[in-house]
Amino acid sequence: MTKLSIITAPDPRLKVVSEPVAQVDAGIQRLMDDMLETMYAAPGIGLAAVQVGVPKRVVIVDTGEQGEQDKPLFLINPEVLFTSDETWIDEEGCLSLPDQYADVRRPVVVKLKFLDYTGVPQEMEARGLLATCIQHELDHLEGILFVDHISMLRRGIILKKLRKIQRESAAAER
Ligand code: ZN
Repeated sequence: MTKLSIITAPDPRLKVVSEPVAQVDAGIQRLMDDMLETMYAAPGIGLAAVQVGVPKRVVIVDTGEQGEQDKPLFLINPEVLFTSDETWIDEEGCLSLPDQYADVRRPVVVKLKFLDYTGVPQEMEARGLLATCIQHELDHLEGILFVDHISMLRRGIILKKLRKIQRESAAAER
């Protein structure tokens, strides 16, 4: 497995709408293996392929506690079947927006269908943190970041901070 580099916002590549996977082959499985290593190393609880520069509808999620056994979910071509009217607010972060957090309101339950690691169609229902994490990752496939769900003012502050960090690290590399 290879650790991939994660694209950080603001970057136009994060705004791209990802393409469906035509076939779950060895190439897609290798991509998912590499994404998993990248996510665990970060560490993070979710990662979409577009965040490592591959605009395909592939998402991995593992909301288990650190120290628990890894239980990754591989979601290929995920589609939402149902979201609850009931919502809740959780603090979200994103590997593409390092060290930035904001409260986001989302449906508390989501049902979806997807292809698993071996390309077999599956359905699942998620609730709470897992539901939030899945909806956050599915947003990435549409080019949407969690900061797109918060006020323009808060979003502006976060993106300004990230631009400053990018400028500083670019200067440090020179
Ligand atoms: Zn994210």
